[in-house]
Amino acid sequence: MATILERYHEKFAKSAEIYESAVQRVPTGGHQSRVVRPFPLYVDDARGPLKWDADGNEIIDFIMGYGALILGHAHPAVVDAVSERLSHGTIMAGASQLELKWAGQVSDLIPSADRVRFTASGTESTLMALRLARAFTGKSKIVKFHEHFHGWHDYVARDSGIITDRGIPEQTLSTVIVLDPDVAALDRLLERDNDIAAVICEPGGGHWGQFPLDNPAFLQDLREVTAKHGVIMIMDEVICGFRLSRGGAQARWGIRPDLTTMAKIVAGGFPGGAVAGRSDIMDQLGNEDDALRIAHPGTFNANPVSATAGVAALELIANEPINERADANAERLRAGLRDALSKMEVPGLVHGVASIVHVALGVDDDGSGDASSVSHEEIAKATSSPTPEMVRLAMFNEGVDMMGGIGFMVSAVHDDDQIDRTAEAFERALRALREEQIV
Ligand code: PLP
Repeated sequence: MATILERYHEKFAKSAEIYESAVQRVPTGGHQSRVVRPFPLYVDDARGPLKWDADGNEIIDFIMGYGALILGHAHPAVVDAVSERLSHGTIMAGASQLELKWAGQVSDLIPSADRVRFTASGTESTLMALRLARAFTGKSKIVKFHEHFHGWHDYVARDSGIITDRGIPEQTLSTVIVLDPDVAALDRLLERDNDIAAVICEPGGGHWGQFPLDNPAFLQDLREVTAKHGVIMIMDEVICGFRLSRGGAQARWGIRPDLTTMAKIVAGGFPGGAVAGRSDIMDQLGNEDDALRIAHPGTFNANPVSATAGVAALELIANEPINERADANAERLRAGLRDALSKMEVPGLVHGVASIVHVALGVDDDGSGDASSVSHEEIAKATSSPTPEMVRLAMFNEGVDMMGGIGFMVSAVHDDDQIDRTAEAFERALRALREEQIV
């Protein structure tokens, strides 16, 4: 029987061929796929929950634009709105009522969003949130948590699990303190260090919830301790926003951060992000005194195309059972994956909140599906390659794409048949992995 790698080479022969010349032009052979070894799939067509690669294979997609596509690829409402918009211009370089409408929707859905400022990405939104916090408090350091990912700029690279420190000056890195998600330790730190401007966290836990937090207790404690010390609390809702609930993690768990960062779903599958929050902090962006204003240029911030997509997506999220559908699909998938693990007698914990699904192979499941008490080391081991990389290749062979570290971003448009086929694919993938003694 062919190995996982042999099957991969055979099924995706055209992608292998394209990759050969692609690396001469584009590092890693293509940016959108990040890094897939031995080569990525070349994919230029997608609709709903499906995409098609260069070899003509149909793939059930569970990356879904790295979480941007809760509505699926090319949702007709978004496509129609954007197509209509294009003939009216793509950059106004003037104030736009479309931006106001978009901001109004964000404020209506996200409880703490008194003011909203759009950016071109999630990375830019966390960069701006940290600058706002530093300027507002006059303090220089920030605290982040181990494995929490906030984009690729220099201030959030440390212990992000993805970005290394290479190319970042030590002076910059030294302004960032990385802690375990332990609020008592944070409290002690804030007692002795008076130069901390902000604490930033992924409210669902590091890496889109792979390292889950004991919520809502963790976030409540974090809110109390940051408020006690006058430190700005930033919830990075780039993943959680409009997914953990319509109003994000903060509405789901009833926590009001000082600042919130968003991207992905907020821009309806187009490039875009936002920072939002307390008016006294946000109004630094509009200070009439040039010396006090935080300037925020950016040619494509709040551009009308992303704004149109965002408005169309948020309209649906606000008024249709989008979150409910995605959550139900994820619940069905979790059940199917658990079944596959138990049939194949492979130990593993299937967990995740709302429409996010994680599999931590090798971690015992006590039946609760709760990973918040599993140790950092255990989760780190379960999510680190080589095993998850091989799981992904084995799933590609079965016609399913998923997030590295073993995870699934579930949309509102996956249907029951696609979900059930994915669970069956997982069972076959486990069998192939077993053949090679990987699991
Ligand atoms: N913050 C979180 C929690 C993210 O997951 C990401 C991206 O995945 C970012 C920030 C960065 O967003 P972007 O990729 O739009 O720059």
